[in-house]
Amino acid sequence: MKKLFKTLISLLVVLMLATLTGCSSSINTIKKEENKAEGEYAGQTVILHTNDVHGAVEGYSYLPELKASIEAQGGTVILVDAGDYTNGSIYVSISKGESAVTLMNQVGYDLATLGNHEFDFGFAQLQNNLSKAEFNVICSDILKDGKSIYDSEVIYKVGSLKVGFFALSTPETQTKVNPGLIQGLVFTEKEDLYALAQAEADKLAKKCDVVICLSHLGVDDESQGNRSIDVLGNTTGIDFVIDGHSHTVMSNGEKVVEDATEKVDVTNVQQTGTELANVGLIAIDNKTKQIVKSENIATEGLAQNADVLATAQNIVATVDAEYGATFATTEYVLVGEKPIVRSQETNLGNLIADSMVWSVTNETTLEVDNDHVVAVTNGGGIRATVEAGDISRTTTKTVLPFGNTIAVNYVTGAELLEALEASTYCTPDAVGGFPQISGMKITVDTTVEYDAGSEYPGSTYCAPNSIKRVTIDEVNGQPFDETATYAVVTNNFCAAGGDTYYAFKRAYDAGNGFDTSIPMDETLVNYINFELGGKITAKYADVEGRITIK
Ligand SMILES: [Zn+2]
Repeated sequence: MKKLFKTLISLLVVLMLATLTGCSSSINTIKKEENKAEGEYAGQTVILHTNDVHGAVEGYSYLPELKASIEAQGGTVILVDAGDYTNGSIYVSISKGESAVTLMNQVGYDLATLGNHEFDFGFAQLQNNLSKAEFNVICSDILKDGKSIYDSEVIYKVGSLKVGFFALSTPETQTKVNPGLIQGLVFTEKEDLYALAQAEADKLAKKCDVVICLSHLGVDDESQGNRSIDVLGNTTGIDFVIDGHSHTVMSNGEKVVEDATEKVDVTNVQQTGTELANVGLIAIDNKTKQIVKSENIATEGLAQNADVLATAQNIVATVDAEYGATFATTEYVLVGEKPIVRSQETNLGNLIADSMVWSVTNETTLEVDNDHVVAVTNGGGIRATVEAGDISRTTTKTVLPFGNTIAVNYVTGAELLEALEASTYCTPDAVGGFPQISGMKITVDTTVEYDAGSEYPGSTYCAPNSIKRVTIDEVNGQPFDETATYAVVTNNFCAAGGDTYYAFKRAYDAGNGFDTSIPMDETLVNYINFELGGKITAKYADVEGRITIK
């Protein structure tokens, strides 16, 4: 009775404090039973952390065994993930990320935040996936209607020790994910990100002994301003950052990178690389409240949990069986071999380009009408001919082995023309950038010399000084207009200025483009299945005169 009375009083105090401080919500506090076993980690709370698992499903089997071994040595374990678990391999992408959550539940994660790839299938799908999560999800810096989309903080209490977590997810998600799928979300950047992190650190410091930032920010140069180390350098009171995103292996101030010349201070930041090559460990003494150990543990050779491994292997076997199976047939040879696909229109090039337009116009809302949508994909990305007969996913993976995704760039007619002129500069000689196209008819006049200007930045290819060789004869049956805006469906490689496509990069960098994150080979499979009914139609018996070479 006395105990109940005491509990009621403390509850009242908490409520009063919350009202007095104007605290919008009290922080979710989770009590963990303190492990009383003897051993190396006796009296310690051990945070085990992973990041960027990216569908390496079998690797999850290391975690229950590692956790058990630390518990056997007296440690109380909190298992956390710093994001990018829902995409990266077909074994998780095939379920739009849900199978990753299934595995994480089975492993017994306590906490996770969101990486950019968590949004690849859209925010609605992410919410659906995470509604099944048996672990806590926190994210402090992505907002909807002025509020963070998940809890901003969580506190774990082990004995008298309180460890507080808040989480920062990269604002780069804005440009790495199809904007149509993340509408209404606001991403916090740079100064605002530091201010938000400071407020979180201050809030947690009042209640906790150790403040940890669970971060999907990374330390890449290209992320400058939004890196974990930028947050750490511009705030006080964060005791440790558990990082992700850049796939860096780093611990105790040491960063394992190819480029050893780069010097950034990564003290108090730990990241495990990717695909569960390592598991991070941070040990905190429950009495002194000090971090007493931080390290990465290589997983190779560690014990694997049989149940988790069985779940993972079942996923792998199911997907692999599906891949090897015939899903379609063709009575026509689909031409994808070098040098043909790099110097002229081919029926396989048409099929792939058509599938790209089909995918985007079906799954995405574009800013232009469908008669202003075209596709351009580099012939060098098409790697094999499909013989007449059966088609399996192994076939499509062989044709498109790079795992490229479909991107959309909004360009002017003039920019489209520039890209095509540059990409046929040596036609009829083969070049990887040679365009396979959909939605337009073009003519390349090889009797005229290419008017080469200066090299594109960071490129070995030259911009055209003037348009001499290419004419765009029509776009979806309409006259071509240099001043109109066209949506060019391409692959993420060309969108980023790969091969001869600097004109696309210019648009992309100016914010006039996005990556759908939809893999090209998956799109090809879906197009053949759903649009063509599993049989390559007569439309693709031969070329159609989309590209005339004079
Ligand atoms: Zn990431």
